[in-house]
Amino acid sequence: MNLSELEIGKSAIIESVGGDGALRQHFLDMGVIPGAEVTVVKYAPLGDPIELLIHGYQLTLRLEEARQIEIVPVVKTQDNRTLKKNRKTEHPGLGEGGKFHPKGSGNPLPDNEILTFALVGNQNSGKTTLFNRLTGSNQHVGNFPGVTVDRKDGVIKGHPKTRITDLPGIYSMSPYSSEELVSRNFVLNEKPKGIINIVDATNIERNLYLTMQLLEMEIPVVVALNMMDELTANGGHIDINHMEQLLGTPVVPISAAKNQGIEELVDHAIHIARYQEKPLRQDFCDEHDHNGAVHRSLHGIAHLIEHHAQKQDIPIRFAASKLIEGDSRIQSMLMLDQNETETMEHIIQQMEKERGLDRGAAIADMRFAFIYRVCDACVKKPKESKERVRSERIDRLLTGKYTAIPVFIGIMGLVFFLTFNVIGAWLQGLLEKGVASFTMMVDVWMAHMQVNPVLHGLVIQGVFAGVGSVLSFLPIIVTLFFFLSLLEDSGYIARVAFVMDKLLRKIGLSGRSIVPLLIGFGCTVPAVMATRTLPSERDRRMTILLTPFMSCTAKLPIYAFFVHAFFPKQGGLIMIGLYVLGIVVGILVSLLYRNTVFKGEAVPFVMELPNYRMPSAKNVIQLLWDKSKDFLQRAFSVILIATIIVWLLQTFDLHLNVVKESQDSILAMISSVLVPVLKPIGLGDWRIGTSLISGFMAKESVVSTLKILFGGHVNHALSALSAASLLVFSLLYTPCVAAVASIKRELGSRWAISVVVWQCVIAWVVAFLVYQIGGLL
Ligand code: GDP
Ligand code: MG
Repeated sequence: MNLSELEIGKSAIIESVGGDGALRQHFLDMGVIPGAEVTVVKYAPLGDPIELLIHGYQLTLRLEEARQIEIVPVVKTQDNRTLKKNRKTEHPGLGEGGKFHPKGSGNPLPDNEILTFALVGNQNSGKTTLFNRLTGSNQHVGNFPGVTVDRKDGVIKGHPKTRITDLPGIYSMSPYSSEELVSRNFVLNEKPKGIINIVDATNIERNLYLTMQLLEMEIPVVVALNMMDELTANGGHIDINHMEQLLGTPVVPISAAKNQGIEELVDHAIHIARYQEKPLRQDFCDEHDHNGAVHRSLHGIAHLIEHHAQKQDIPIRFAASKLIEGDSRIQSMLMLDQNETETMEHIIQQMEKERGLDRGAAIADMRFAFIYRVCDACVKKPKESKERVRSERIDRLLTGKYTAIPVFIGIMGLVFFLTFNVIGAWLQGLLEKGVASFTMMVDVWMAHMQVNPVLHGLVIQGVFAGVGSVLSFLPIIVTLFFFLSLLEDSGYIARVAFVMDKLLRKIGLSGRSIVPLLIGFGCTVPAVMATRTLPSERDRRMTILLTPFMSCTAKLPIYAFFVHAFFPKQGGLIMIGLYVLGIVVGILVSLLYRNTVFKGEAVPFVMELPNYRMPSAKNVIQLLWDKSKDFLQRAFSVILIATIIVWLLQTFDLHLNVVKESQDSILAMISSVLVPVLKPIGLGDWRIGTSLISGFMAKESVVSTLKILFGGHVNHALSALSAASLLVFSLLYTPCVAAVASIKRELGSRWAISVVVWQCVIAWVVAFLVYQIGGLL
């Protein structure tokens, strides 16, 4: 029987895990290993994926993947792996643990050496919260070299000679997602002086899986047991001192959210880094487990490759376990010769035979076996926690079969309503007023000082107008991100991905892409930024390229204007029609992408569903601050330059004289080149060309430019059919400068330019169809 056949609420034991390659490794790393007990919690409202309970946490899996997992019924025997419940353990409270420093003091690093730390942990283990606690406001956001995954560096408060880097949340040191690769390469190549490994104590079994791989890295590690407040509140205990002994490295209980144990964590982190106290234990394989099959093969291979590993500066034990798992990157880095490769293959095959499990599963099993021993000795699991019970109750509504989708639509509707109609719009109005009165002041002052009129025009119509239009985006973006970070931090976004996965799969994406696409209806800029969270580069690119098809709010004024002027009776219908048209064209294009540029499948949907938690105010504020800064820095420079250029083109003729009539300007000349191109779609007028060009700066300005150039008689100059064509063209043509700039930042110039060209081509084709077919009717 396979896992997809198990009924809701029933449990079984995993017998074997099918599939191959990185995906299978990912299953194993997430704890889906032979011998583990799984329970089916529910199906997503559309029937796929499934939600499972394994090792005490919730995991999602697609049916297709569940079919590859064979299961057997649970047999009630006393398995030595199941944890003994209610065992009494001594528990040092917060701030007492972590006395484990085997090396003590001696040979410290020189005082002026910067102590670099990597902050590593699972997703949702509280990394961001801890990072903000550790660094206060001394942080710097950038990108990891060569990839656009966010890199946050900071200095630990009160310790100027430190630098801590927040690595992407990962579950294992296997290169499954680009983020895991980034984290692994950081540890391997940059060799931080110490690792702060944050572990969610309420979910300790799965979290320690990563810890075990970090301990193999030959870098000092301090384990920060986070969420201790939640664990103890629900009657759980962890014997910290014993755990330190078993892991061979300091363990500090903390609560990042409640700011407990942080100072102690910092003390230990600095100590291990300064004295380079490496973990005492790296050898987790049990020599008695199945006659030590895994143990012997690991040690055998470690000896075999020792020399190569030293030469390439890769930790030996880590290299050996990755080789057994079949990690081709490590294998090619080691440059083994043919003899060695064959010997290794023999050792592994022998191990597989003796152990009765394949290589990947055997290693994962070895790790989990050790984790079970540690947890058995030191952890008294909490009773079913309040948070879990609460999460289940909330989930009954939010991922319920009939309620999930309506609730989702309701929540998103509310978020958009609040952002675009209430809070964001109100802030935007306020800001616009501020900018307007400031502009006015400068305007009056310049007139008073009799500044050269051209310079005056440049400052007021160029710089101020340009900067003002950028600023007016800011409140919307900040408000939108505020709500989204609430949804994200609380754990809801993971559920949305779970609910919507099946739909998005049809166009070659996974559930995770839903969020950026939705934000795209608001504004493409934050939508593009939101794709950072997607685990696969392919999905991320494809999602970014689809966001421009979600009609953004800046296009609303265009729709409103033309609907009012030409189709007052069918207003609502046309508006909805435009939104739907955008989505339909988007779907068609994604089907095209799927069969051409982005061949292959969306990443499998193996995802943890964390308990719902109260988002921390500090995280949210920090995020808003980062986003605003990021947005201003980036968009400012591009838009500022672009508006100045347009202003110059609009103000001067080819002989650099200031023009009296706008049709003599360079801009008009450029636009007249567009006339033949736009003629077949019914828009062969230089003024329309000009307004479309100005729409590239900001979509809203299509209307204002048209009004100025036509002197308020647009409805006489255009036919209804041309208006329809213009509407469709505006819906689909190139995203505005700010959006293109953010695409450039995420994907590079080449992609950004192709988006501009490609969108214009699509817009032209669809407008052509509308105009020509409309003409026949
Ligand atoms: P990340 O995904 O690892 O960056 O995790 P976050 O820092 O975003 O935290 C995930 C959630 O856990 C947030 O809602 C936090 O407020 C919450 N959280 C973080 N640390 C603690 C803690 O020590 N105790 C409790 N109860 N909640 C925490
Ligand atoms: Mg985070």
